[in-house]
Amino acid sequence: MAKICPRCGSAHIDHQELLSPKPLAACLNCDWSGAAVDLLTLDEATVLRANPDGDLASPETTLRLAKQMSEAFLRQLAKSAGQPIGQALVEVGFVGRKDTANLTRLIRKACLSAVVGVLEELEVIQKEKQGAGRNQ
Ligand SMILES: [Zn+2]
Repeated sequence: MAKICPRCGSAHIDHQELLSPKPLAACLNCDWSGAAVDLLTLDEATVLRANPDGDLASPETTLRLAKQMSEAFLRQLAKSAGQPIGQALVEVGFVGRKDTANLTRLIRKACLSAVVGVLEELEVIQKEKQGAGRNQ
């Protein structure tokens, strides 16, 4: 899973001493550096968005983190799933193979919808986790 800077949300991370017992990392976008375990994952960025009062980041930073993580997910999705989605669209006849403008548009929309759906479901999962925590 992609890791991002806990201060600015950048995914441009320089991983240092990966093999040491306490791996270090430094952000190439701002001057943050620290333990690699302090980097945020998509799940944690979503948690922060659901808890804007969290002390790790301001609501503005949190929203930016979530947005950058969604964009990273969208890029990854388009890279690995764009072609099979396009093939499926052509095979069922939603769009002609030569209609590249609309084919591209539909692939992009399919990936975007997937990102939105995943983010919504992540929030549901997070709320379920919090609910389960309170009942213990
Ligand atoms: Zn940074």
